[in-house]
Amino acid sequence: MTKSFLVLSIGPVQSFIAQARRAGDLYAGSQLLSKLVDVVLGELAGIAGCTILYPARQKETQSLPNKLMALLPDEQPKATAEQLERVIKDKWRELAAVAKNELSRYVEPDSTWQKMWEAQISQLPEIYWTVTPWTEEDYASAYEQAGRDFDARKRLRDFGQVEEDGPKCTICGERSALHRQDEKNPRKYWSEVSQKVSQAKLRPNGRERLCAICAVKRFGEFSQEEHFPSVSYIAATSFKKALLEQMRQDDFDIDDSELRQKLEQHTQTLFLLKPDVIPVPKDVIPALASVSVSTTWVRLRDNLLSYDGEWLYLETYDRLLAKPGRLTKNEIQKAQEATRVLLEGVKSLENFTPRRPGPYYAILYADGDDMSNKMRAIAKKYNDPQKHTEISQALAEFAATGARKIVEEDHAGRVIYAGGDDMVALLPITDALPAANELRKAYSEKMGMLLDKPTISAGIALVHHLSPLGPALQEAREAENAAKRRFGKNAVAVILRKRSGEPMLVGTKWKLEKENGQETVVFLEKVRQAFLKKKLSMGIGHALLDEAYFLDGGKLPDEGKWVEVKRLFTRAAGDKQLSPEEKKQQAENFTNRLKELTQSIKNNQVSESKAAAENETDKHKSVGCSKSDDVVEPPLALAARWLILMRFLAQEGGGHE
Ligand SMILES: [Zn+2]
Repeated sequence: MTKSFLVLSIGPVQSFIAQARRAGDLYAGSQLLSKLVDVVLGELAGIAGCTILYPARQKETQSLPNKLMALLPDEQPKATAEQLERVIKDKWRELAAVAKNELSRYVEPDSTWQKMWEAQISQLPEIYWTVTPWTEEDYASAYEQAGRDFDARKRLRDFGQVEEDGPKCTICGERSALHRQDEKNPRKYWSEVSQKVSQAKLRPNGRERLCAICAVKRFGEFSQEEHFPSVSYIAATSFKKALLEQMRQDDFDIDDSELRQKLEQHTQTLFLLKPDVIPVPKDVIPALASVSVSTTWVRLRDNLLSYDGEWLYLETYDRLLAKPGRLTKNEIQKAQEATRVLLEGVKSLENFTPRRPGPYYAILYADGDDMSNKMRAIAKKYNDPQKHTEISQALAEFAATGARKIVEEDHAGRVIYAGGDDMVALLPITDALPAANELRKAYSEKMGMLLDKPTISAGIALVHHLSPLGPALQEAREAENAAKRRFGKNAVAVILRKRSGEPMLVGTKWKLEKENGQETVVFLEKVRQAFLKKKLSMGIGHALLDEAYFLDGGKLPDEGKWVEVKRLFTRAAGDKQLSPEEKKQQAENFTNRLKELTQSIKNNQVSESKAAAENETDKHKSVGCSKSDDVVEPPLALAARWLILMRFLAQEGGGHE
């Protein structure tokens, strides 16, 4: 019997995932898409003789890539594909209905609203599929043909945009915001909805006006706040963790009654603001919930974990005061004062870092290098679909257990999406690099039995918690691109965009100098620790950057260059913290590692224009720090920027000031 390859994708990813204002929307969109893929996998699993090549179904956590591939046994593969299309659309309608019912409970929809809803919901999802018969040829050739057929189909994208009237949705800006008849402005409808829900769910006075698709994310099945922490929660996590560490100690010599009282006061004032301070489930960041504190602190810990981190920033209250919703000015001011008192109290604690909640969080993108080439190579080598199934299984296991454990248990982050060879996660800024490094090690170990030299590249964006999420996601994606294209894959790149000023991009291989060399992140973490313990002056990065163009300009003998770098490190060594011997040793050590880092960057960096030429189809705009396309920054300057970045991390992005 002839078998056929089925390749099917569900999208557009842009509408489901990228168009997000909040971490919760992002998570919900990713979950919705996963659910649709899962329905297809379930359907395929029920067809006798069908082999799912990619992806493997996950048991507990649902995080599936939006494209799948299977071998269909039957003589009518097209009928099967059409049936799958119907199943996906039915499931989508079912998921959308959850949100529709929810919204209808708040405000009665009229026929205009209903029509808009129907029209917008029926635009999604975009489903593409191809079937390619596997006839005489060997598996490998047929597999490649199936890939080509699908790519050709996708190039003929169906553009079915519907013309719509009325102001656009404030989230996607693409579709019109839902409204009722005779309402020229959707503000009225959304203002009414906002009165029925908390400010955390929907901004008051119609400031957020959603289309049907964005409403499915915000009000549908995966929309409850308890599912996903806000980016402010993530940004404040290091601070909360430091407070928990304080509660771990049960030293009776220390009088902690003042801190207790301030924490108590803070939560009590906040909880008066209900329902706008929705109690967040205390395990929303699993790594925080698992910190054990002494019994006398348990209640205060639970309080601390059950409100969003945004209530630890004084600016939050300023924003509320500027545009008060339901809350009175007095209530807001009272809560702000309690926050100020708490923060002042914490500042006076000895050895407490970060001194205040840092305003930045990290978005991490990670992606397996050369995955499609590797899969084709596997097809050629074994000529057997079984190997592809095994790889998919291993990827699913890695995503569900390995990757998730690293991000959510070993570090204080949350996974938004983990599909196997790619993932997206949110983390506190100081966790991002170590977590990425552990991910790539775990991935290489897990997949090393099945693939030839499996590696991943990671991109990290360090983002202010009040910056818009959409562009920040784009930046993390660009960092990942830079790791792959500019820093030669098996690499990591970080983009730091402070609230004011130009973005800074740094990148390098995971290993210093050689494949068997020291891990780059281990060295960088040592630098961060040295900053933190005042063993290294904060100015070293900028001092080095100032001289880098001269030192690395090619006019100086190599030896002279490193003598000067060592002099800078010696000068930057902390006098109070280190003995003369230790100072010498530290300078020697850091100079040698920095030399390896510089060498590694030099050997692997590809100029922006060359990287772009290699990847013409990729039209992403570059945020590289080189002056023009053909000028590549001297490797030493890039190494100096890494030091500047580690200083930023040591200061928790301003959390120490
Ligand atoms: Zn929208």
